[in-house]
Amino acid sequence: MLELESIEGIGPKTKELINKLGITTGEELLNYYPYRYDIIKRSDMTNIEDGDKIIIDGIIEGQPTIIYISKSLKKIIFRISTKSSILNVTIYNKTYIYQDLKCGKEVTIIGKYNKIKNTIVASDVRFGLLPLTVKIEPVYSTINGLSIKQISKFISSVLYCEDYEVNNFIPKYLEEKYNFISKKEAIYNIHIPTDILTLKKARQRIKYEELFMYVLKINYLKSKIENDKKAISRTLDRDKINKFILSLPFHLTLDQAKAVSDILDDLEKPKRMNRLLQGDVGSGKTIVAFIAIYANYLANYQSALMAPTEILANQHYEEAKKIFSNYKLNIALLTSSTSTKEKKEIYENLNNGKINLIIGTQALIQEKVVYKKLGLVITDEQHRFGVNQRDAFKNKGISPDVLSMSATPIPRTYALTIYGDTDISSIKSKPPGRKEVITIFKKEKDITEVLEMMKEELDKKHQIYVVAPMIEDDENDKKETVKDLEEKMNKAFGKIAKIGVVHGKLDSKEKNKVMSDFEKNRINILISTTVIEVGVNVPNASMIVIFNANMFGLSTLHQLRGRVGRNNIQSYCILIAKESQERLRLLEKTNDGFEISEYDFQTRGEGDLFGVRQSGALGFKMANIKKDFKMLLKAKEDADEFINILFTFNTNPEFSPIIEELQKIDNLD
Ligand code: ADP
Ligand code: MG
Repeated sequence: MLELESIEGIGPKTKELINKLGITTGEELLNYYPYRYDIIKRSDMTNIEDGDKIIIDGIIEGQPTIIYISKSLKKIIFRISTKSSILNVTIYNKTYIYQDLKCGKEVTIIGKYNKIKNTIVASDVRFGLLPLTVKIEPVYSTINGLSIKQISKFISSVLYCEDYEVNNFIPKYLEEKYNFISKKEAIYNIHIPTDILTLKKARQRIKYEELFMYVLKINYLKSKIENDKKAISRTLDRDKINKFILSLPFHLTLDQAKAVSDILDDLEKPKRMNRLLQGDVGSGKTIVAFIAIYANYLANYQSALMAPTEILANQHYEEAKKIFSNYKLNIALLTSSTSTKEKKEIYENLNNGKINLIIGTQALIQEKVVYKKLGLVITDEQHRFGVNQRDAFKNKGISPDVLSMSATPIPRTYALTIYGDTDISSIKSKPPGRKEVITIFKKEKDITEVLEMMKEELDKKHQIYVVAPMIEDDENDKKETVKDLEEKMNKAFGKIAKIGVVHGKLDSKEKNKVMSDFEKNRINILISTTVIEVGVNVPNASMIVIFNANMFGLSTLHQLRGRVGRNNIQSYCILIAKESQERLRLLEKTNDGFEISEYDFQTRGEGDLFGVRQSGALGFKMANIKKDFKMLLKAKEDADEFINILFTFNTNPEFSPIIEELQKIDNLD
């Protein structure tokens, strides 16, 4: 390991700045890749603009001068004659080259052109007329106080002078198969690229390595799940479970029944369940979760249900109390607004087993909760959570089964590769009788039409969501905010409707009050930010009006739209923006979450589709699942084959960096 401070130019202060970039060692510095490159072309001084970076050669005219500006700042100035003109050159601080700058010498200058002063501020001077036609300069993202040049310099100094280690994660036979350049060479060329072709090769190698390791990690997780000795197997009381299902106020849809059957089978098997339940908004995932919870309860295990927001946790809690009102399940709610006294009691009752079902937010895992016999963990809207959060469920000697629920469907093509360690159940159909939500786009200037539509719904005693992107204005920004909308709505409907406001900055008590008033139909119009985006279920709401719709991703809009149409009444989603956009129009055409996420994915990149999977411990620095999908498929083929080789020849020293890297995720699963 190479200490940062052993690198020339890095003192304690600079080290701190570098740490802020998430870099703690010299090796990590080498893994800090440029996010783009500036390509500097050779110039003949025609078509050149102020500020352009260029390469130019010429002959030194007259004697260069050193000017001492201050103790730490010096510059050398001289003139060169090029093919077409005379140019001034300024070089800061590199006074050591002064003695080589002789009148009449040929030089190649790389630098930035200042048109007014007819000067090039040189970043590099080479002697002789070099066959240099382009220079590729890496650009790093950085923070205040640390320049790109400094980062570049530190990295170069490691590459030139230091004895650093690179971990190679591609086995030799695969390196040969693809004719990859070595890792060391790749890293060198990423930071100090000499030509575009080699840079491309370097990037190919690094990307492939990331994708290969990614799939390998997924495969490793999978084998861990399959071989988990602490996994639970239960005998389920199918009779009682069926009776419970029959007692529900509705029949399960076919897809719900199929998902339930998948899950119950998982719970019985002596293998740990790791299942993703994906289903479009409003498809009825919650009840599937409750059935699993009931089955788990009958087998004498505790369940934990985790939601990404307090609003949603509350709602699940209320729903669970209703569903289980005739059963002996002891249910508790744990969020950040639970009082210390209540919390203490809850911890105790989780530890002694009195609580059968705990529902909560991240508070569930942030605190040191110890369960007596936790058998099932369910995360709702799982794309909001990291993979590693599940691990925090402290438990005594058993691995709970895990069910993740998500309304952000993963396009089929990607699901298998990305979630290779996860079984997937999909609910594609909606409960019967649901009318498709009608989506209508309106331009801002047509707001009166929107108000008329709202009035019609209010007259039918239906409720309405009104959504704005933010709480208050960013100074003179002309966006509709929650505050503006409150005024507008009060003016339009203050006499005939009760209007409530909810957003992330309210404290939880206020939030809960507003939400519960809305649920009980004491509020007719709820103005909110996207805090209502996930999960909220108020079936009497028949209209959602979204201002500045262009500011949201399609998946978010689809989620928001999912707040209505949860009943058999015709519901509407009104999207408002200044200008019509093709992507907004897509929502008018389709209600299919899969189609929308596919479109979002194709046009915007993976976004938060893969959540933490993408950016967290399993994430990529250079590769991109979408752009490099073909490579990912190859890497998957190779990794699927290699994992078996690895398990058979795990003492081969060539593989030890790979094994070490895999073991790092042991704590994350
Ligand atoms: P989501 O999948 O978005 O989480 P919910 O679980 O909140 O959806 O379900 C949406 C609504 O549909 C709820 O009011 C729920 O009670 C109702 N529901 C669920 N399943 C059925 C069904 N099979 N028949 C009728 N209504 C159902
Ligand atoms: Mg839900």
